[in-house]
Amino acid sequence: MSDRALGLFGGTFDPVHFGHLRLAEEARSALGLEQVLWLPSGQPPHRPAPRATADHRLEMVRLAIEGNPGFALDAAEAQSAATSYTVTTLERLRSLHGLNRPLVLLLGADAFAGLASWHRWRDLLALTHLAVATRPGHSLESRFLPAELQGEFQARLTHDAQVLSQAPAGAILTFNISALEISGTWIRGALATAGSARYLLPDPVLDYIARHRLYHLN
Ligand code: ATP
Repeated sequence: MSDRALGLFGGTFDPVHFGHLRLAEEARSALGLEQVLWLPSGQPPHRPAPRATADHRLEMVRLAIEGNPGFALDAAEAQSAATSYTVTTLERLRSLHGLNRPLVLLLGADAFAGLASWHRWRDLLALTHLAVATRPGHSLESRFLPAELQGEFQARLTHDAQVLSQAPAGAILTFNISALEISGTWIRGALATAGSARYLLPDPVLDYIARHRLYHLN
């Protein structure tokens, strides 16, 4: 089994869009990841139930990443009836890939700012590194982070992406990506009011949404 760093990218992907795809693609090349494993959530604990079912969100991610050998899909969270906890998924992946394989959890700046509310969040950094991508409208300055996160952030922050390949877990790195002000919320709103979401997400995903009328009001 490879010892190169594996990227892990979770989300509701309701629906998946180019903001997600650029984050994963830019992380893979900037951080030297062997692959990015996409992890669509089942029922996430911190937020209202996604609009589309887990099966539909899984299928949309499958369509979006098709043809990119640097991406792979892990369907376990989406196919489980249990609440999706990242720490549980990381424990499963850690036992699958062994203690030495570097794992790098990819997060947007907004998701990182909410980390301290995640189930067993302090255990996460024993299992994985964190790589936090910039996102328009969300600051990564330490003083804007919740107090409990600031200490971990300052103690573990590195600016050297090589660290991610040299240890299996424990570092936090921030990285810049192309700023794309795209969100699932905006796309769902546009589709519900018969607006256009074209060029914000891949055409096969848009076709899938139209065929199954996922976000339309009637
Ligand atoms: P919603 O608007 O429904 O909350 P979202 O567009 O933020 O959805 P999620 O599935 O919640 O998408 O996000 C998955 C991950 O992708 C999170 O870590 C989030 O920070 C990151 N992300 C989503 N969109 C962007 C973007 N445009 N730029 C950078 N990061 C993003």
